[in-house]
Amino acid sequence: MKTATVKRLWKYVSKHKKLMIFSIMLVLVSTSCGLGLPWVLGKVVDKILLTKNSNLLIWASILYFSIDITRALSFYLQNFFFSILGQKVLQDLRHDLLTRYQFYPMKEFIVTPTGKLVTRLINDTSSLQDIFTGGLAIAFGEVILVCATVIWLVILNLKLGLCCVCVFPIMVYAAKKFGHHIRIAFRRSRMALSKLNAFLAENIYGISCIQAFNQQAHFKSAFRKKSGFYTEMQLSAVKNYAYFHPCITTLSGISMAALIWYGGFLSLNSAISMGLLVSFMSYLQSLYTPIRDIIEKYNLYISAITATERVFDFLDRPCENQIQATAPIRNELASQTGTSIEFNEVYFRYNPNTAWTLSGITFKAEAGEKIGVVGHTGAGKSTLVSLLMRFYDLNSGSILIENKNILNLSKQELRSQIGYIQQEPFLFSESILDNILLWNAENRKNVEEALTFFPELKLDKQVFEKGANLSTGEKQVISFLRAVACNPRIFILDEATSHIDSITEERIGHASELFFKNKTVITVAHRLSTLKKVSRILVFDKGQIIEQGSHESLLLANGKYAQLHQRHFEKELVEACNSPLLSSLVS
Ligand code: ADP
Repeated sequence: MKTATVKRLWKYVSKHKKLMIFSIMLVLVSTSCGLGLPWVLGKVVDKILLTKNSNLLIWASILYFSIDITRALSFYLQNFFFSILGQKVLQDLRHDLLTRYQFYPMKEFIVTPTGKLVTRLINDTSSLQDIFTGGLAIAFGEVILVCATVIWLVILNLKLGLCCVCVFPIMVYAAKKFGHHIRIAFRRSRMALSKLNAFLAENIYGISCIQAFNQQAHFKSAFRKKSGFYTEMQLSAVKNYAYFHPCITTLSGISMAALIWYGGFLSLNSAISMGLLVSFMSYLQSLYTPIRDIIEKYNLYISAITATERVFDFLDRPCENQIQATAPIRNELASQTGTSIEFNEVYFRYNPNTAWTLSGITFKAEAGEKIGVVGHTGAGKSTLVSLLMRFYDLNSGSILIENKNILNLSKQELRSQIGYIQQEPFLFSESILDNILLWNAENRKNVEEALTFFPELKLDKQVFEKGANLSTGEKQVISFLRAVACNPRIFILDEATSHIDSITEERIGHASELFFKNKTVITVAHRLSTLKKVSRILVFDKGQIIEQGSHESLLLANGKYAQLHQRHFEKELVEACNSPLLSSLVS
């Protein structure tokens, strides 16, 4: 594990110092008991069996049993407390990860598949859980036991001690070599797993499309390919691990054979007592048992280490909290009227290698003004909104709200001034009321009057995932009420009334008249009929404003807007003529 990763992990562990010290003390107790047992065995051989001193037998049995029971008890407690420590560390880590997610820049969410993000939050932290709960406790105790045994053997008898550990350098070399390969394979398999999850998440999300277009077979074969790669990576790790395990067993056999040969030779020549030889054999057994255990769990640790590195790597990425400007909250922005919005020579592109998505956008909306934005698909209308919301930051120029550059406002502060009415609002699996207030109960007073416009809305109705049990109209009403609930100074409507029935549209219209009064409103629209109430219309084309003015003046100018208008009403006429109702009336 990289030193930096250990240091980071240590920071989390050291927050719970008392628990850690107590657990370590328990490890020391169980290790001392583990060292005591073979020593007692040796003494039984030398002082009781060889001297035929039966008086001491009962005391030796009591001593052996007491040490063994203390060892068992401290071993159980050490595991228990280490597990608590692990759960606490994991809770802190998950909390930090979630905080990072919440302030992760929007552009990163767009390029990173959801499955990958979820893998990091769930799978990687649960791998860490493996190392902490049980795994770490046992490994820590075992490492201490191995080190203490080696030192104790050398103290008891230097030559025999060295004979026991003569294979250790080969063992360390093997652990390093195989460990390196296992680690690489695990890292690749983690990456493969996160890609597999991303693929699954996307396809489950789009299952209605897959079923509607009978693409199950394609989905299945693509899944098999990705799943196959993951299996391949896992197998590569297991293969390396499989070589490693017998290698260690052979080395332990060699060291026991060397002890029997050399120790037996010394004992026969009375250079050491038989009791000492029995103790050494017992120590050697108890030395390789923890080593084997550590190796058994080696792949678990390596997988957890890889997961830890991935978690920390994610925690190190910049999030909105760190990259936002730290201007103080401006109280003057918190009043109840609208605010001016000014775009000055704004240039923006999503990718440095592509053409400008917005170029030279300049306009000013006065406080309380209602502005409409129209243009073909891809003209840059939604991008304009994204820049105002600071989902992205512009490349050059400036955007001012009440003469203050939005780059100098914190994102939270800026967004609290804006009520964003989305075309497809995201709905949480909560009640309709929770979806409107977004858990800010104190906002209920702002929305009470607006609710009277929509008496059919059942506020306590539980919304299914993605709002599956709501109509498009209901979703847009929720989106509208959600924005009203924040009592913002600016409303942004992103083609908000494009798919709803005329009654709901009318009701939203009436409610808007009341709630948009004095507020600054930007309406991004395809349906030109929704723009009749705006004072000025900006016509976008290929990222530029090519015309602007009132509905009437733009029609008189007979330019692009007039063309759009003409086409729009021709289309509406054709749709009306094709409607079944009209056909039935005509026939
Ligand atoms: P409109 O809202 O007018 O339909 P958009 O502002 O959504 O247009 O898009 C303007 C251009 O920017 C389009 O060419 C679109 O493909 C591109 N675009 C939109 N979002 C992204 C993104 N996240 N990354 C890269 N390009 C994008």
